[in-house]
Amino acid sequence: MPKETILVIEDEKNIVELVKYNLEREGYRVLTATRGDSGLEQAKKQRPGLILLDLMLPEIDGIEICKILKQNEKTAALPIIMLTAKSQETDKVLGLELGADDYMTKPFSPRELIARVKAVLRRVYEKPKDGIVKIGSLEFDDGKHIVALKGKPLEITSKEYDLLKALLEGKGRVLTREFLLERVWGYDQSVNIETRTVDMHIGQLRKKLKTEAHRIVTVKNTGYRLDNEP
Ligand code: CA
Repeated sequence: MPKETILVIEDEKNIVELVKYNLEREGYRVLTATRGDSGLEQAKKQRPGLILLDLMLPEIDGIEICKILKQNEKTAALPIIMLTAKSQETDKVLGLELGADDYMTKPFSPRELIARVKAVLRRVYEKPKDGIVKIGSLEFDDGKHIVALKGKPLEITSKEYDLLKALLEGKGRVLTREFLLERVWGYDQSVNIETRTVDMHIGQLRKKLKTEAHRIVTVKNTGYRLDNEP
């Protein structure tokens, strides 16, 4: 089975080479960009399975790229591993808040690189068995279109169902209100959209999820994240 395509956005040529060599040796297809703008363009066009994103880039920096990717419906779900220098601790935190999935501090070994890449890909693309997802006492059965809490089916609207489904598919990652609106309501981004609609439905959903309501985490100024920790 062919492996994922990985896009490396990094301006330091020796790091690009090291990363490309080691990922290709593992069977991944590797795309590279040495500038922020061309990296963004490739992300939109090629839709890689994963992006390795350097923080310090000419033109547009990594934080800005992360923001743009997460706000675009086409690229919001793409997992991102940030590459940082030791001195960029604050940026690292900001990146994770913006929805990056993981980070690596330079210099890193090829072994660490492969391990992180595999871990993120596994976490993001692992398909649940029989279409049933269990998180705490919550059970989501996409085959039967049922959401149950402690074994009892919940009465939820189709929009709430779709919203929960979108959160589950992106579990552990920050999903922006714009992304959720587009995914659940299918609004065009150019239309004057009411992102408050998302907040209202999240509120209703939380009430119905009762003891599991805390799993829908509000990410300030951005959107929501479904927490799948025990
Ligand atoms: Ca750099």
